Amino acid sequence: MLMLGVPVALFLLRDDLLPNHQFAAVRKLILVIAIVAAIGLALTLTVSKRWAARAKVLEDFVEALPNSQSALPDGGPEELQKLARSMRSMADRVNQVVERANLELARRETILACMAEGVLSVDRDLRVNFCNDAFAEAFGTRASGAEGRSLYEVVRETALREILERVVRNGRAEKDLLRLPSAAGRWFEARALPLGLAPKRGAVIALHDVTDIQHQEQMRKDFVADVSHELRTPLASIRGYAETLLDGGLEDEANNRKFVEVIFSHAVRLNNIASDLLVISELDNNASPQAPNEKVSILDVVQSAFNTCSKAAAERGIQLKHSIFDGCFVVGVRFRLEQVMVNLVDNAVKFNRPEGEVMVECVATGTNFLKITVADTGIGIPSEDLKRVFERFYRVDKSRSRPAGGTGLGLPIVKEVVERMGGMVTVESQLGRGTKFTVVLRAA
Ligand code: ADP
Repeated sequence: MLMLGVPVALFLLRDDLLPNHQFAAVRKLILVIAIVAAIGLALTLTVSKRWAARAKVLEDFVEALPNSQSALPDGGPEELQKLARSMRSMADRVNQVVERANLELARRETILACMAEGVLSVDRDLRVNFCNDAFAEAFGTRASGAEGRSLYEVVRETALREILERVVRNGRAEKDLLRLPSAAGRWFEARALPLGLAPKRGAVIALHDVTDIQHQEQMRKDFVADVSHELRTPLASIRGYAETLLDGGLEDEANNRKFVEVIFSHAVRLNNIASDLLVISELDNNASPQAPNEKVSILDVVQSAFNTCSKAAAERGIQLKHSIFDGCFVVGVRFRLEQVMVNLVDNAVKFNRPEGEVMVECVATGTNFLKITVADTGIGIPSEDLKRVFERFYRVDKSRSRPAGGTGLGLPIVKEVVERMGGMVTVESQLGRGTKFTVVLRAA
């Protein structure tokens, strides 16, 4: 303005700068300065408005990050163009970081949602800030409504509350085995970890359902206890009778043979238990069968079982019969199928009435299956015991089964073998009239 104003003023005042004209010159000078100042002000205003407009565009762009849709227009003063270029590259980087963070978040949420373990996190006031579906399902609640509510509203479980409170307070991870009544009494292995740092520290807990493992562990313990119990009875008898013989029973001619017979029968029983336990353990450990599947004739299997049981049947006048098995073949392991048939026929003889009958039949059922039935005319099984006869060591009438050499493992072995071959076994019975076991197997 000064560079423009000074020559203009000098040009206009050239006459007034002569001596005696100074007053007019001062007025004119003031006028010129006012005009120049007005023009300068107008120019400054225009320029600053343009800067402000560009700055507003930049400001809007930054405020809308990371969702800025509009592109930054080119043009304007060089300084602002430079700024716009740096903002554009900054926006690209911000978008990349946000995209990556969103992807990571989505991935974590999907992983947590798919996890079989229940996961729940709380803030320092024990307010739920995350809960996956598995956790909600275990407690019969909904994951979607849990966030923001207090832990106690979501799950009324003192054990969980205590463990989370401790982790929030102490900042130390904890692990525990809990039985949670509000999760239908299921067993959970709980692992709780601190989340963040004090004083804003929250906690996260993961619950792994170990009910089945606990159940199996309990079954294993029961099984060991049952086995010990089963072994104790014959061993005690053998020892007792042996002592009696040693204490003079050998000379007791009227009874010594009877004592030895009792010892023998208990030794047979021990032997039966040992072989059945071996089979059970082979089946449990998948150690057997080593033999490959083959096409097995049901007629051969039944005849072999009849041979094994014929002596016991004959002693009680029981007839062993079977129907005609034309084309009855299954795919399976022959010696296991023989074991199934021996166990069923042996029971049908053991629990039959004298002069009774055992009938084995085989018919096709559906297109691919064979139905093999073993029916007897014996004492039958009370209806309340029917569903338990396949349990290990379960016997309806111990006093009747034990003297007959029974172990309580025959039917569990039948069930295990048949199910491993993709079949199933069922039982129906009428007390005092007889029992019928039905085995369905895939036809060859
Ligand atoms: P056990 O060695 O005692 O025969 P099982 O597992 O073979 O053991 O059978 C379990 C129980 O089921 C038997 O003790 C018996 O009470 C009952 N049971 C099995 N088969 C028959 C049957 N055909 N008739 C009556 N009761 C039976």
